[in-house]
Amino acid sequence: MRRLVPNSMSQIVAMAMISPLLIACSPWSKQSTTQKSGVGQLVVPLALGDKTRSEYVAEADRLALNASKQQGQAAHELYKQAAVVRQQAFIQFGKQVDALEAVELLQSLPADNTSESCDATVLALELQVALGKDPVAQYRDLFLLRERTTDPTCRQRLSRALAVLSAFQPPAQELTKIRDQARVLAKTQPSATEPPHDSMVVTPDILRANLDQPAKITKVEPFAAERTARVVVHVTHPTRFRIGTLQAGDGQGPRLFVDIDRASYEHLETVQSKGLLQRVRVGKGDGGARVVLDLAQPTFHRVFYLPEPFRLVIDLSLDAPESRTQSRKLRRLVLDPGHGGHDPGAVGPNGLQEKDVALDIAHRAAPLLAREVSVSTLLTRDIDVFVPLDERAARANAFHADLFVSIHLNSNPDHASRGVMTFVLDASHDAAASKVAARENASSEAAAVELANALSRVDSVARRESSELFASLLQRAAGASLRQRYDDVLDSGVRKAGFYVLAGAAMPSVLFEGSFISNPIEADRLNQADYRQLLADSIVNAVRAYPEGLSE
Ligand SMILES: [Zn+2]
Repeated sequence: MRRLVPNSMSQIVAMAMISPLLIACSPWSKQSTTQKSGVGQLVVPLALGDKTRSEYVAEADRLALNASKQQGQAAHELYKQAAVVRQQAFIQFGKQVDALEAVELLQSLPADNTSESCDATVLALELQVALGKDPVAQYRDLFLLRERTTDPTCRQRLSRALAVLSAFQPPAQELTKIRDQARVLAKTQPSATEPPHDSMVVTPDILRANLDQPAKITKVEPFAAERTARVVVHVTHPTRFRIGTLQAGDGQGPRLFVDIDRASYEHLETVQSKGLLQRVRVGKGDGGARVVLDLAQPTFHRVFYLPEPFRLVIDLSLDAPESRTQSRKLRRLVLDPGHGGHDPGAVGPNGLQEKDVALDIAHRAAPLLAREVSVSTLLTRDIDVFVPLDERAARANAFHADLFVSIHLNSNPDHASRGVMTFVLDASHDAAASKVAARENASSEAAAVELANALSRVDSVARRESSELFASLLQRAAGASLRQRYDDVLDSGVRKAGFYVLAGAAMPSVLFEGSFISNPIEADRLNQADYRQLLADSIVNAVRAYPEGLSE
């Protein structure tokens, strides 16, 4: 049993304030056997036992991921549990990143007027102290919140929090001022900051399409989370499409629609969804089909197409598109081990499969990222399972990742090809790079080029620059790491091409081709745990160097 030694005043205050809720909703409470803890005591409550910090982080991420698949109350509860686990990690190990993460999780909850949401709000405020907020300012904020709150349970909760901070109470006349302020605020409606209701029409080029051919919608796949969603519409042939939005009204919520020219459909009328995206309906539109997305609230959106097979991808987010690249801090990372399940990826002359090596590298990197650089990591797959390419970036978006790293091993019919390269999604005139993308996409080279060109026109400069920065750091880190043992490692640099897996990722993203599995020497090295560890270390070292390289 680890003993808890608080390392700062703010941590003591935070711990004292946080304990009651920890007891109320710790997700691990069922595993607790011997520990008992009282409200407000400076002890770590419940089942904190011998878990390592990365176990906490993994548990919190698991809860957050589950939450992203739920809606309403269930999602709310899971997000809160994830925040509580992060908080436990903070109390146990004193890493501010955990407190920060807990605050983010809590702030992502919808602020309705339930006592559940009160708990979350108060908890988020309390954690601010742990993040260095002045306890006197904290007292003022909690006091103001109590004055504004009408719900008796919530008021009680706030009074308890204030009691813990009684040593930091400001003078009486200041409290009177705050009461007056609360009265003024009660008279003015809070102004919600909503994304714009633009009804922009976009008609991207279709470069190689036979636009006269009638198209059929064969499948509509929603991947929905609380704050993001992706809908993939599979269409048999390339076709023009237009995008529009409809504001809430007449008993309906806000809607986004895509009109698909000359398209028909069969057996695809309504797909129920959850969270931000409530429902997808397919119906007749002007000269074709109309896909309507019923939304819980107005969103930012981006619609693009992927060739071969032709599909429209509709990405939705409650957060402004640039919010992931503005932040200097790297807190969440998605590692995407390529292939999996029935898709082995490339296979080496020694029988080694790309899917297994990629997963092993991710498994080696993830705990180091948590332990050494305090970055929460989500794997798009944790086991040998097939995950569609379209779903991988959607998972990263739902996780609100700050960086997306797809892990692969290269392959070439010329078995002499070797070296390390990192790709970013961008327009490319590099035939060799397009070949790699075509292989990873299971598409033609022409489709990879078309995708790269189409997306480079709609992508943000900031995201692209950050992706290139990380790619170059990763190349450098891989060179340094591998050359510790092998002085013949070839640095093949940063390349640009069109990868489906990176399309629509809301954050900087790269695709790492760690070595050539088709090269007998590199395949032998990839077969060794040490070599795969050196590749995992490269990712960790690049992540460590990344924030310093970002411009303001
Ligand atoms: Zn691959």
